[in-house]
Amino acid sequence: MIDICPTTDCTGCSACFSICPRHAVTLIPDQEGFLHPQIDQDLCIDCDLCRKACPARQTPSRKDRLPEELFFAAYHRDEDIRMASSSGGAFSALASWMLKQGGYVCAASYDDDFKGVHHVIIRSEEELPRLRTSKYTQSRTGTCFRDILRLLKQGEKVLFAGTPCQTAGLHLFLRKEYDKLLTVD
Ligand SMILES: Cc1cc2nc3c(=O)[nH]c(=O)nc-3n(C[C@H](O)[C@H](O)[C@H](O)COP(=O)(O)OP(=O)(O)OC[C@H]3O[C@@H](n4cnc5c(N)ncnc54)[C@H](O)[C@@H]3O)c2cc1C
Repeated sequence: MIDICPTTDCTGCSACFSICPRHAVTLIPDQEGFLHPQIDQDLCIDCDLCRKACPARQTPSRKDRLPEELFFAAYHRDEDIRMASSSGGAFSALASWMLKQGGYVCAASYDDDFKGVHHVIIRSEEELPRLRTSKYTQSRTGTCFRDILRLLKQGEKVLFAGTPCQTAGLHLFLRKEYDKLLTVD
């Protein structure tokens, strides 16, 4: 029986769920509501892709990683946007830049009933406010990783913003680097 990673290390990023070619992985909430994978052994073909995509087991190697770490500080020039953000609004500046180029933005949004948080993909500035601010609960990425892969394969530009675990999971899921993908964690 395949064990993707110890439950205590699992961040519920959904890379295993997204990469499974047999749709054998389901993400099930634990007693505290955190998602963890459950494998349908009847569907599993032991291909090991779920373990290779798991950011709890390895970190993605990135060709474009800077030789030295560089640090910049930035804040949005528009005070209203700064006030509507959790910190300085850098996310909004990056997202607006992507949308102006005709690209897509994938980030965390409250559900309509405010009982949960999901990553959603938007394409217009009007939808951007719902992606602003930190939501202090696990965001569920659902089928976003697969949707991002589809968009990248179509030649579209995509910005993904999420936790470091989700971002590492996305890069491991994609398995190769795409010039048109910008990730922010
Ligand atoms: C859950 C959480 C806890 C944080 N805790 C701290 C902290 O203790 N100290 C600190 O200095 N900074 C913390 N931050 C970072 C900080 O609050 C800002 O989110 C960050 O600096 C970006 O600010 P911003 O104004 O550019 O964008 P904002 O508009 O405030 O941030 C929006 C971005 O955060 C992402 N996001 C929001 N909630 C979630 C979530 N639940 N899961 C994944 N992505 C999410 C969205 O996808 C969006 O891209 C935390 C962020 C998050 C998401």
